[in-house]
Amino acid sequence: MTIENMLLDALDADFVARLRERLGERHVWTDVNEVEPHLVESRNLYRGSATAVVRPKDAAEVAFVLSLCNEANVRVVPQGGNTGLVGGGVPYGGLVLSLARLDAIREVDATNSTITVEAGVTLARIQEAAEAADRLFPLSLASQGTCQIGGNLATNAGGTGVLRYGNTRDLVLGLEVVLADGRIWNGMKRLRKDNTGYDLKHLFVGSEGTLGVITAAVLKLYPRPKATVTAFLGCAGPHEALGVFERLRESAGDQLTAFEFIPRFGLELVLKHADGVVRPLAGDHAAYALVELSSPQEGADLAGTIETVIGGAIEDGLVEDATLGASQSQNAALWKLREMLSEVQGREGGSIKHDISVPVSRVADFIVEASAACEAAMEGVRVCAFGHFGDGNIHFNLSQPVGMEKAAYLREWERFNRIVHDIVHAYDGSIAAEHGIGLIKRDELLRYKDPVAIETMRAIKAALDPKDILNPGKVVALGTDAPSALPG
Ligand code: FAD
Repeated sequence: MTIENMLLDALDADFVARLRERLGERHVWTDVNEVEPHLVESRNLYRGSATAVVRPKDAAEVAFVLSLCNEANVRVVPQGGNTGLVGGGVPYGGLVLSLARLDAIREVDATNSTITVEAGVTLARIQEAAEAADRLFPLSLASQGTCQIGGNLATNAGGTGVLRYGNTRDLVLGLEVVLADGRIWNGMKRLRKDNTGYDLKHLFVGSEGTLGVITAAVLKLYPRPKATVTAFLGCAGPHEALGVFERLRESAGDQLTAFEFIPRFGLELVLKHADGVVRPLAGDHAAYALVELSSPQEGADLAGTIETVIGGAIEDGLVEDATLGASQSQNAALWKLREMLSEVQGREGGSIKHDISVPVSRVADFIVEASAACEAAMEGVRVCAFGHFGDGNIHFNLSQPVGMEKAAYLREWERFNRIVHDIVHAYDGSIAAEHGIGLIKRDELLRYKDPVAIETMRAIKAALDPKDILNPGKVVALGTDAPSALPG
C-alpha cells in the first residue's frame, strides 16, 4: 500500500461524521466487533481491514457514499451476503459498503414473467416470491439462504440449474448501478428485446464490485415445474457418465434440468461424515450421476422417459445400476448426497480447490487426465472431481494425503494450480467457471487470459473508476499496491 493511500484510508473524523449525518448514526459501524465479520470470508483464506461498514438504505444513499469516497480517494468494497469463495469481498482499507438494507421486492409481473428486486434481497427470498406467484426463479446455490442477488449478479453465479436456465447473467433483463463517482445508471428495463447500443448490464454482471455497485435488478421468471423425477446412477467412469448424459439430452431436451457428477471418493466422504444420509445403491461404482428431469406440465411422464434411457444405457454398459426417487423426500435424500460434498471435504484436512470448466464434450477426458497428473505429482493425493458435469463445470478438488501436515499440503497450492490449469488451458477451458476471480485467481488470470482481453478489461476499469476506489486489486489490478493474491 502506498503512503498516499494509507493516509487516505485512515478515515478522518469529519469524513465519518458526514457519513453518519446522511445515513444515520446506526448505519455507520466503526466498532471492531461489528466490523470484524466483514473482514473475512467463510473459507478464511484472507483477512482484510476496514475502518467502517456503511449500510445505506437506497440507491441515493449508495450514490452519496460513493461520491464522497471518490472525492476523498477512499476505497470501497461492496458486500452482499459475504458467501463468496475467492477473496473478492475482503476489504483492504477504506469502507465496506453493505447492501443488506436494500431488501425490497418491488414487483412480481407474472404476465411479463419478471421480478424486480433490490440488491440486498437474499436468493431464497426471491425464489419464495416467485413460487408464491406460481413461477420459478431458477438460480439455485447451497448458499441461497445468505447470498444476495446483488452478489449473485456481481459474481455471475452458477449453481445446479445452469444446464437448463443458464448462469445469473442469462436471468437478468435490467439493472440499476451506482458508478464510482456517484452517478446512478437506471437500466431497469423489463424487455426481452433491446438493441439500443452496448448492453451495459453485461459489463456489470460478473464484475465483482470493481466497476460499480449494483442496487436493483429485473430478473426473468419461468413456469414452475409441476412434475419432477430424480435419479441416481452408478457408472464405470466419467466417459460412461458422459455417454448417458448425451442420451438424456437427446431424449429429454430441456426437461433435463440437472446432471451432477459425484466420484466414488466423494460419495464415500459424504457417507462417512454427513448425518442422515444413506447409501443410494447397493454396489460400489467408480462414478455417480445425480440426474433431474422436470416439466411445468402436471403428470408429465418423466419417469417413463428416464427409465427408457437408463434401460438402454444399462444394456449398452453405460450405467451399472440406478435408482429413482419415489417421493419428494426420497428426491431430497438423493440431492443431499450432492449438497454435502463441499462440506465433507473439509473434514479430511486440507483441500486444494479448482473451479474450472471445459467444453462438455471433453469433460470426461479432462477428469481422467487431470486426475492422473495430480496423482502422479503427489503420492496419496485424493482427487474429488465433482459438480456440474452437464455444463462442463467441475470442482476439481484435491484432498491431502492421509497423515500429511495440512499447512505443508496447502503450500503446494500453486504447484497444483499449474498442473490443473495448464490442462484446463490445453482443453480450451476456463480457470474460473462460476466462483469468479476475486483475489485468489487474479494472478492466474494474467497467465491464461488473452492479453488483449486483459488490456480491454483494464481500460474499462480505468474509464469507469479512474481513481481505482472500487474493490481495488481484485480481478484486474490497476495499481502497484494491490494485496497479495496468495492466501494466508
Ligand atoms: P459477496 O460474497 O458479498 O460478494 C461477492 C463479490 O461480489 C465481491 O467481489 C463483492 O465485492 C461483490 N458484490 C457483492 N454485492 C455487490 C453489489 N450489490 N454490487 C457490486 N458488487 C457486489 N457460487 C456459485 O456460483 N455456484 C454455487 O453453486 C455456489 N455454491 C456455494 C455454496 C456455499 C456453501 C457457499 C458458501 C458459496 C457458494 N457459492 C457458489 C459462492 C457464492 O455463494 C456466490 O459467489 C454468490 O453469488 C455470492 O453472493 P454474496 O451476496 O454472498 O456476495
